[in-house]
Amino acid sequence: MRKKIVAGNWKMNTLPSQGLTLAEDIVRQSFSDQTELIVAPPHTHLFSVSKAIANSRVKLSAQNLSNENFGAYTGEVSAEMLVELGCSYCIIGHSERRQYHHETDEILLKKTIKAIEVGLTPIFCIGESLEIRENNTYLAYISKQLDQSLLKLSRNQMEKVLIAYEPIWAIGTGKTASPQQAQEIHAYIRQYLSTHFDVQIAENTSILYGGSCNAQNAKELFSQIDIDGGLIGGASLKANDFITIANSF
Ligand code: PEP
Repeated sequence: MRKKIVAGNWKMNTLPSQGLTLAEDIVRQSFSDQTELIVAPPHTHLFSVSKAIANSRVKLSAQNLSNENFGAYTGEVSAEMLVELGCSYCIIGHSERRQYHHETDEILLKKTIKAIEVGLTPIFCIGESLEIRENNTYLAYISKQLDQSLLKLSRNQMEKVLIAYEPIWAIGTGKTASPQQAQEIHAYIRQYLSTHFDVQIAENTSILYGGSCNAQNAKELFSQIDIDGGLIGGASLKANDFITIANSF
């Protein structure tokens, strides 16, 4: 059985004190025991949020990690540091990091392997731009992103990975992919996993949708057979909306 997952990507939002309040508000609310609820605050908030959620079912994710272990890498944060702070997940390859920090598939693959090595579950993001969507070459593009990254993992490593399909044209734009558009890609990714790994990997890998998913549209998106939950940006900053999304399965 695939896990139902809702993960909140806070991006570079909230001050540490505000993030703590948000985490406390989330923890106070109830959500189905079938759902894995994850918050991904900025690195500066991880220590306090980790404490705030310690006695709850809410899990902690980082938004990024270094592909190096330790040493002279100013400004970087290692996988082991994240584990000691209580993280069990890490977002890898978000389109904003690919775009603004020039993270290549090669680097993202290294980060994914590093995360798996220390026991962090990677939430590996892929997705096409508006131009690629309009050119109608998005399926080939998704395959290429996977060919250059997750395909290079061993079967054992791939078992540990979650995938988030996040069309760039839908992120933070208010323009959600329709449930049918999202389902098409999710089914395509699952078929890809079946072809390149095996049916078991395909059936067991949770594939999340991300891109303007909110309390109003989550139910319809999550009702699609290959959509196993969401990676939520803006709507994860309001505890009530986030919990409504978590209860949308
Ligand atoms: C995201 O950045 O991962 C995201 C899905 O953002 P939003 O929900 O705001 O579109």
